[in-house]
Amino acid sequence: MEKKKTLLRSLPKVDECLNRILAQLSGTVPQFVVKKCIQKCIDQERLAILENPESRISLSNDEWDELFIDTINEKYDYNLKCVYNCTGVVIHTNLGRSLLPSDAVHQLSRAGSSYSNLEFDLRTGKRGTRYSLVEEIICDLTGAEAALVVNNNAAAVMLVLDTFAKGKEVIVSRGQLVEIGGSFRIPDVMAKSGAHLVEVGATNRTHVKDYKAAITDETAMLLRVHTSNFKILGFTSDVSPEEMVQLAREDSLITMEDLGSGSLLDLSRFGLVKEPTVQEVVKAGIDVVTFSGDKLLGGPQAGIIVGAKDIISQIKKNPLNRALRIDKFTLASLEAVLRIYYDIPKALQQIPTLKMLTVDISELKKRAQRISRRIKQHLNGMCDVQVLPVDSKVGGGAMPDCNLPSYGVILKPHEYSLHSLEDSFRHLEIPIIGRVENERYVLDVRTIQDEEVVGLSAAIISFFS
Ligand SMILES: *Cc1c(COP(=O)(O)O)cnc(C)c1O
Repeated sequence: MEKKKTLLRSLPKVDECLNRILAQLSGTVPQFVVKKCIQKCIDQERLAILENPESRISLSNDEWDELFIDTINEKYDYNLKCVYNCTGVVIHTNLGRSLLPSDAVHQLSRAGSSYSNLEFDLRTGKRGTRYSLVEEIICDLTGAEAALVVNNNAAAVMLVLDTFAKGKEVIVSRGQLVEIGGSFRIPDVMAKSGAHLVEVGATNRTHVKDYKAAITDETAMLLRVHTSNFKILGFTSDVSPEEMVQLAREDSLITMEDLGSGSLLDLSRFGLVKEPTVQEVVKAGIDVVTFSGDKLLGGPQAGIIVGAKDIISQIKKNPLNRALRIDKFTLASLEAVLRIYYDIPKALQQIPTLKMLTVDISELKKRAQRISRRIKQHLNGMCDVQVLPVDSKVGGGAMPDCNLPSYGVILKPHEYSLHSLEDSFRHLEIPIIGRVENERYVLDVRTIQDEEVVGLSAAIISFFS
């Protein structure tokens, strides 16, 4: 009791600290920001004392000042920070999914600093539509008749269902009722769009006859959902896009496929799992196909909708489309990424997501050795450093059963626990995000860029010295 009172009484007064800190910062930070930060520190300490006085000690003026200055500096740093992705997960949703190729970054910055023909038709001088900037390219690449882009794939699915299935029935195989992290569940999205979900088949097997038996006068669509993040193995059977299209034509129903990742390339020749490409699904005759811009495509966050002309034109007219529209930065960078796909070898070299997924294992080994060589002698006696084979993941819910052979720089610190190393690395100026597995800290080099090797190594050395 007594300790609590003494500690509370020893808390400094905001105004007394203010002038001292302002003088230290010599006018570089506005007074109200400084005051706010000081107030925040003192309030937090007061709360901590009230909660558990035994755990607190009274701080000296110097200690308080350090706390204030740290808090002010933190406030002045960007909240969105660049990090080193050493997880080996290429399409890491929490770390921003795809990195953009340099052409796309260039276009982004031009779109930001200059006026553009975003919605202005330069031929006629009249109002244009933003989608027309990428529609033809998407059609060229996918073989579709028409295309539209919206904020993300979740929005794309919502918009299509809202356009064609509001108050009507949509038939989906039970094995495809997926949840894609971040609370995107197909049944919930359907409910929100006002479509009634009709589940058919069993979890592992669905047949054409199951769909056929479920079709009623209320049926609007047959929907396939790509089961991106899980795989049903063993005794399974699925209705192919071709079979679905044939069935739908008999009853004039609309077919839709939510492809999720939506690759434009078959990556199986690089040892990745065979995924249906957008072109294949379009060719099978599915009326409307949706996929993400920032998963296997390797572009900015976007939802791409491709399909038959009359279908896409109805979607374009849906007022919800206006609410889900993409901004000029997305369009600028998406156009740049899509253009690269006209030349596939170039795409594999220039689009970071594709490059990281298809990089030769010998390159990865060399990269790991470069890092190890740089840091090893400096960490001598403080941390063991080894280069070992590891497995990386595609991420983004794509190819869940695919382990990509990679190389890791393995750290075994002597004085830190793995947990505290992981925590400390996360708090560095440029945070290092690695993996703790099998009693070791792994820096998987698949997701480390060549340009990052020097900076990353220096950051690790400086942490230990
Ligand atoms: C990832 C995914 C989505 C959501 O896409 P976002 O672009 O993240 O909105 C929807 N459906 C499937 C099958 C997915 O894999």
